[in-house]
Amino acid sequence: MENRFCRHCEECMPCPNGVHIPQLLYMTAAYKLRSSEWFRKGVGAHLKSWENCDQCGKCEEMCPHLLPIREMITENIEFYESVAQGSPEHQGG
Ligand code: SF4
Ligand code: SF4
Repeated sequence: MENRFCRHCEECMPCPNGVHIPQLLYMTAAYKLRSSEWFRKGVGAHLKSWENCDQCGKCEEMCPHLLPIREMITENIEFYESVAQGSPEHQGG
């Protein structure tokens, strides 16, 4: 099975360019578990840090779970943007 689960161990941190890696990998779970307000504020606060990523790959070298971090962050941001546009339906509180 493909390994795509971030354990939030923070071994990949700190990112040399200030990207909030674990928080950016938490979006889909946060959407299911948290309120809409928390989701928009909590996740939104971390989104801009991704613009600083220079694709150096250091985080992936540090991750003990060998996660494809950059690809996963991109997927999480795409998910956030789809939610911001009104889909899929929110399941949180
Ligand atoms: S090192 Fe890997 S599992 Fe740990 S927080 Fe970073 S991405 Fe998640
Ligand atoms: S690839 Fe991006 S997120 Fe990962 S360490 Fe480099 S700058 Fe940070």
